[in-house]
Amino acid sequence: MFKGFTRFLQRPGERLKTLFGAQESSGPSTPTLRVIPRDQHDVSRRLFSDSALKVLYRLHNAGHEAYLVGGCVRDSLLGKIPKDFDIATDATPEEVRTLFRNSRIIGRRFRIVHVRFGREIIEVTTFRGRPDDDHDTKHAQQSDDGLLLRDNVWGTIEEDALRRDFTVNALYYNIADFSIHDWADGVHDLEARTLRLIGDPDVRYREDPVRMLRAVRFAAKLDFDIEPRTETPILELAPLLLQIPPARLFEEVLKLFLSGQALRTFELLREYGLFAMLFPEVEEAIAERTWAKPLIEQALINTDRRIQEERPVTPAFLYGALLWPGMRLRAERLEGDGMPPVPAQQTASQQSISRQQQHTSIPKRFSIPMREIWDLQQQLPKRRGKRAFQTLEHTRFRAAYDFLLLRESAGEIAPGLGDWWTAFQEGDDHEQARLISKTSGSPAGTSERPKRRRRRRRRNASSEHDNDGHQE
Ligand code: ATP
Ligand code: MG
Repeated sequence: MFKGFTRFLQRPGERLKTLFGAQESSGPSTPTLRVIPRDQHDVSRRLFSDSALKVLYRLHNAGHEAYLVGGCVRDSLLGKIPKDFDIATDATPEEVRTLFRNSRIIGRRFRIVHVRFGREIIEVTTFRGRPDDDHDTKHAQQSDDGLLLRDNVWGTIEEDALRRDFTVNALYYNIADFSIHDWADGVHDLEARTLRLIGDPDVRYREDPVRMLRAVRFAAKLDFDIEPRTETPILELAPLLLQIPPARLFEEVLKLFLSGQALRTFELLREYGLFAMLFPEVEEAIAERTWAKPLIEQALINTDRRIQEERPVTPAFLYGALLWPGMRLRAERLEGDGMPPVPAQQTASQQSISRQQQHTSIPKRFSIPMREIWDLQQQLPKRRGKRAFQTLEHTRFRAAYDFLLLRESAGEIAPGLGDWWTAFQEGDDHEQARLISKTSGSPAGTSERPKRRRRRRRRNASSEHDNDGHQE
């Protein structure tokens, strides 16, 4: 009866009646296993990567239980091609480790095994159980606020299912007979396009506040509704995200904005008060500058488009756009206090990045190119002599140029410079020379010339008249 499952997803009500009668979800506190045999669902092994199958079969042949779980089962049922594969097993990390030479155990808070095949990594997770008094803090640990500090108590598949976040993420594909095991009415919710936390939402968010971000990510990515009980506590509990280590939040933020639905994700994050917990300075800048939100939105629209077209996305550009309004606000304040524009932006960049790093870390491989894109914004107006050619040669020129167009389209700066650079890139030698000669007459703010002149005059004046006249 699950054959053609995906066809029915557009008409959930009708499908529900055929599947379960008209009854409501029984709720997750009373887990009942529903096994969907292979001939009643459409999930074929052909959807799974060879590496994932290899891991599943080797675990199975060694006498272990082995299931695909989480996003890959959920997405397969939705008719999407799964991209990454998570495996759940009763084998301990050490047992998994001995079965695969190409594997390593990672994580302390949550120990798992990564099995590597070239660039592909298969995550193998041992069934988690319910920690009880017999377990010392080496295996499981929870803060006074309910935050799970460590979760390494092994258990049964049933316990494992109930410790997962959403019902639609607790579907298991069994390699032993190709059936799907549904422990929390996940199929029901999948058909109703609903995200429902397993268990008491308040407790589950306190255990791991990142689940709030995951709710938003899946709602946006899958176009699902967040069910009211799951939705209600988020606004109040959003500040719990401040307890999460910045490195973990960085990873989550990348997933949030690289899901292909970054714009929708951004809207939902702001709606639920989560965005301000991740990017407080950006939220402030949005309130203070009318161009800030359009600039971020346009960057997210571009990101979504690139992902849809399967073109690469640079997180540096994305972070650059997100943090730019807050950084510019700081720079303007410093300029207001008398600091010249270039050092003001340098100082503001440092300050903005270090404040951001208290919330989400930004690895150097992203923060360095991001700053280059920012620095180039101050070079782009300077086009005389060899300057334009030097800027054009810069490895970040293209990103900086795109960034400039973004600023113009958001109304942060007047249009004009973007067109100039478009023409300059497309022009032949003659045209480029003509464009450069035209810049001498550019309006103030788009050419460095007037400033340079002033500086030269001052230097001359000070050397002619006295020796301590360092006025800048
Ligand atoms: P995708 O990989 O498409 O982003 P996913 O659901 O597979 O989505 P992963 O982060 O790969 O997400 O996690 C795999 C599975 O592990 C999830 O489906 C869920 O069952 C479980 N899981 C992940 N993070 C949590 C969490 N914070 N709390 C509870 N369960 C989680
Ligand atoms: Mg996954």
